[in-house]
Amino acid sequence: MNIKSSLSLAAAIGLLASCSSSYQTLHQKSILVDTHNDVLSQVVMEGHSMEKDLTGIAHTDLARLRKGGVDVQVFAIFCDETYGTGRAFRFANQQIDSLEAIVKRNPDKLQLVYTPAEARQAVKNHKTAALSGVEGGHMIEDNLDNLTHLYNRGVRYLTLTWNNSVAWASSAADEKKGSGYHNKKGLNDFGKQVVKRMNELGMLVDLSHVGEQTFWDVINTTSKPVLVSHSCAATFSPHHRNLTDDQIKAVGKNGGVIHLNFFSEFLDSAYTNRMSAFMAKHDAEIKALRQKGLSGMALRDAIFQQYPNESGTINPPLSLLIDHIDHIVKLAGIDHVGLGSDYDGISSTPVSLDDVSTYPVITKALLERGYKKKEIEKILGGNFLRIWEANAKKS
Ligand SMILES: [Zn+2]
Repeated sequence: MNIKSSLSLAAAIGLLASCSSSYQTLHQKSILVDTHNDVLSQVVMEGHSMEKDLTGIAHTDLARLRKGGVDVQVFAIFCDETYGTGRAFRFANQQIDSLEAIVKRNPDKLQLVYTPAEARQAVKNHKTAALSGVEGGHMIEDNLDNLTHLYNRGVRYLTLTWNNSVAWASSAADEKKGSGYHNKKGLNDFGKQVVKRMNELGMLVDLSHVGEQTFWDVINTTSKPVLVSHSCAATFSPHHRNLTDDQIKAVGKNGGVIHLNFFSEFLDSAYTNRMSAFMAKHDAEIKALRQKGLSGMALRDAIFQQYPNESGTINPPLSLLIDHIDHIVKLAGIDHVGLGSDYDGISSTPVSLDDVSTYPVITKALLERGYKKKEIEKILGGNFLRIWEANAKKS
């Protein structure tokens, strides 16, 4: 090696080092908000403790939240439609109790927050700001007082429907099926009252999971910016959980924010075919692993580890998540996109986004894609804080 090439190598190493430190510095400096994590209902309510290292069991635990630089986490409160009247609201409250207990046990790591100002203060104190969002209108059991009660307990968004419709709003899954909703598609008069009460309370209206008719009815009813807490752009994967270009533009016009889900199927329409072919090919081994007692994430990890080359081509690349961001920025603008991972509610993520500790790779990828620091700060969390503030403001 001559002097000239060793000098240019040194320069290249220096450049790489400064690039890597600049993305880490930017990541640390930015307020990272994730608007949807299912660890409470899927992991904690199943008996696991977030204080323990849940690597291999769950996407989320307290240590990995810190490692990923997650500053504000919205914990989803969830039960499905089998929890009917008399059970769903009570179970929602039990999950809030559980979140409160976790925060109480870990005052050095977590802080419950009720306002954007409290969230910013928690971040300054090097704690993860914790708040909750209720996923599924059935948990208010058709009662506006229940909605107010949940707000008073710190719930800051309600996803109007989950996959099931409620009496007052149709879901995306049911609208696609053409059945399962009550009387007609969209919001009925009570549904409009729910939206108006949420606007008054300062609770964000979340439009993930709702049907297109419900979406447009909300856009025409709400006086505040809406939230889409965990969905993607349908142009890449025309799934009913994703937003069409017209919907993306409408969220932009409304002043709202679309937070991207990390689920491979929502990001990439070809993912399911790749995964099904892989599973069919290794069916016998998968059955054997099941007989050994493996299931869920542990089963998937075990079979993927046996075939690293094949499995490495199944999950979409991280760059595809950035493509979704680019698309929303192009249609609606930089102020209307954020992150809503759906960790612990999804079975597959893009390469290198394995769990809540991996968020810094997004910051790195955004810098490499050419986004400026101020723009990245908006995507990581600034946009959510803006719509939370707009909703909290009494009008
Ligand atoms: Zn969901």
